[in-house]
Amino acid sequence: MLFFEELLFNLEFILLFAIILVEKVMLVIVGVLVQISNQNVDKIFDYLVPSRLEPSIKRGIRILVPFGRQTLEGFVLEIKESSEVELKEIYSVVDSDIVLNEELLQLGKDIQKSTLSTLISAYQVMLPKALKAKAGVRVNKKYHTFYRLVDKEYIATSLPQKKVLALFQEKELVSREEILKISSSALSTLLTKNVLMAVQQEDYRMKYEVGNDCQRKLTSLQQYVVDTVIHDTKHIPFLLFGVTGSGKTEVYMHIIEHVLSQGKTAIVLVPEISLTPQMVDEFSNRFGTQIAALHSALSEGEKYDEWRRIARGEANIVIGARSAIFAPLKNIGIIIVDEEHSDSYKQGDKSPRYHARDIAIWRGKYHQAPVLLGSATPSLESMARAQKGVYQLLTLDRRVNGRKLPDVEIIDMNLEGKNNSYHLTDSLLNEVRKCLERREQVILFLNRRGFSTFVTCKSCSNSIKCPNCDITLTYHKSNQMLRCHYCGYATLLPKVCPNCGEEALTDLGVGTEKIEEELHTLLPKARVLRMDVDTTSRKGAHKKMIEAFRNYEYDILLGTQIVAKGLDFPNVTLVGVINADTSLNIPDFRSSENTYSLLSQVAGRSGRSEKQGKVLIQTFNPDHYAIFYVRQHDYLGFYKQEMVIRKKLGYPPFYYLCYLKISGKDSKLLFQEALKIKRCLERNLVNVTILGPTSLSVFRVNNIYRYGIIIKYKKDNNLRLILSKIQNHYKTNYKVRVDIDFNPSHF
Ligand code: ADP
Ligand code: ZN
Repeated sequence: MLFFEELLFNLEFILLFAIILVEKVMLVIVGVLVQISNQNVDKIFDYLVPSRLEPSIKRGIRILVPFGRQTLEGFVLEIKESSEVELKEIYSVVDSDIVLNEELLQLGKDIQKSTLSTLISAYQVMLPKALKAKAGVRVNKKYHTFYRLVDKEYIATSLPQKKVLALFQEKELVSREEILKISSSALSTLLTKNVLMAVQQEDYRMKYEVGNDCQRKLTSLQQYVVDTVIHDTKHIPFLLFGVTGSGKTEVYMHIIEHVLSQGKTAIVLVPEISLTPQMVDEFSNRFGTQIAALHSALSEGEKYDEWRRIARGEANIVIGARSAIFAPLKNIGIIIVDEEHSDSYKQGDKSPRYHARDIAIWRGKYHQAPVLLGSATPSLESMARAQKGVYQLLTLDRRVNGRKLPDVEIIDMNLEGKNNSYHLTDSLLNEVRKCLERREQVILFLNRRGFSTFVTCKSCSNSIKCPNCDITLTYHKSNQMLRCHYCGYATLLPKVCPNCGEEALTDLGVGTEKIEEELHTLLPKARVLRMDVDTTSRKGAHKKMIEAFRNYEYDILLGTQIVAKGLDFPNVTLVGVINADTSLNIPDFRSSENTYSLLSQVAGRSGRSEKQGKVLIQTFNPDHYAIFYVRQHDYLGFYKQEMVIRKKLGYPPFYYLCYLKISGKDSKLLFQEALKIKRCLERNLVNVTILGPTSLSVFRVNNIYRYGIIIKYKKDNNLRLILSKIQNHYKTNYKVRVDIDFNPSHF
């Protein structure tokens, strides 16, 4: 008996001990990455998970945690078991679904390594604002009332009731609006009699129509491209070099059709969706509700909904600008980067300074999916890679249906511009008149908004500058304002010169507003539509303008970059470039390349239907090779000549570049630190060329001074290691800021 009791006691004791043991082992700890206002802290902190939250804990979810005296949001990166109880507990789980899936978690780490960004910024950049770890920013889900038929035996007592019940023969859930259209009293009766039951369902903000447009029959050349891509076995990215109007979009859609038929998904990147609205329209006409569009014109709520539709597998084609490359699609079958040369794919202004093309290639590898880079004017880097076999080259060298490329003529401003009081030369005006007489339309392109580039005093020759930046202010005539295009500073145009007090201010240089005024003077009957950042800032304005121009409510479309890309107006037969020199004169090793591609893109807007198109380019540099090759429609000619120059000067694609921007308020201290950085680089790196430090072409912006150092290299060896050491060194120095940009798109 005693023995038995003892045994029992012992058993109890063992049991108790075991429970304690189990409890100790069962503690769930999570490693959490939080967004702290001080960007430089990039550490994973451990938290304890209270048992009520344990079931919802997964890698990649967003949670709320105490952090010092703050409450912060963070992502769960690690889940581990431990017996340490000294940790703080997490407060709550923010979303029911995973925000960062396994692929994105892995991708973030690689972005951190390759761009030297923080891990948290690599994750944040992937997400729409509503899903970033940022306490306090909250976008609500939208709900909508639907009804379900619960009493199927019920017999209608009135005609409206009958009609309402008939709706339920086709679908299980009927929306409130649909029933209210028939009768609100029938609805309330059916509800009180418990025939219908209300259900709250999430309602996405974006609506798509069902696609109805069907495929076009491809030309044999297009078919060849499609077949090569869908039967790819090499897993090397494709470069599709196709002239403007060669039907690249149709090729993309056929490839996607095939990918979908295999149960896979697709990403299509376009430079900036507001610049290519037609592409989105074409895709939604063809694929309807299967697409999700992600771009800057969406509200935060819309982006939030689109992202979740994608993550839930309810959309399988994502079309969008740069950050759409992070769309949480599963089972990707193709990634298309249209206009791959566009610098909008590089995030250069803030960390992580990534290139969407690189991310596309990374994800292509991850999913074993082909990557297709398309352009009429590929970047020099991409074409060089294609020539070396790093990419597979595919060519569409003709326009669909054998339409000819437009004739390009040059207007030498040295001869025609000198004694002309207008920026529109007689040669250009004559062609515009002829075109309008034929009842055809004109696009005029000028890469500068506002009225004039600057305002000067005729008496003391002082020009009015921004108080915060080393740059002249731009005059906007419509509201009599002077604006800084760098920092946004704005002020009313003064009556007298602020320097000498004389009433002698005059405006020089030219912007779109001024050309608009010239057109009104010179061609008073022409209907002119001006399109630039200033006229398209309101939501939907851009699309309306394009439709109005297409409907022939205007004769002339005058604009900046906005009119250069992707537009397909069959009635446009003349394109005029007011000044080809603005982009040529930018001090950047890519200025010729950018000029060539910009002018070719603009030229490509002319003569896209049966009518032959013409392009007139006004320039003070008629002999420049970039302009020469645009005239010949000879991309490869341009490519060869530019490659010779790049080789001679040691620029990409022969060398890689890394750009260091060193900035701060104290210009003297800054220069000293910049020199120190340079010496440190020289001591630690071999086989590199280091240029600088030099002040940036606009030295001061918003009262911050900037120096640049350029590193040219062929192999990166220990470059990233040294740079991250330098970066660490300055992390705690609030007077000097060092930003690192690999493969910068410009300086
Ligand atoms: P790109 O993007 O190469 O400049 P687009 O894709 O805009 O060219 O095509 C130019 C025009 O040709 C568009 O109006 C398009 O609808 C049309 N098109 C493309 N492929 C075909 C085809 N196979 N048959 C008939 N028309 C086509
Ligand atoms: Zn400024």
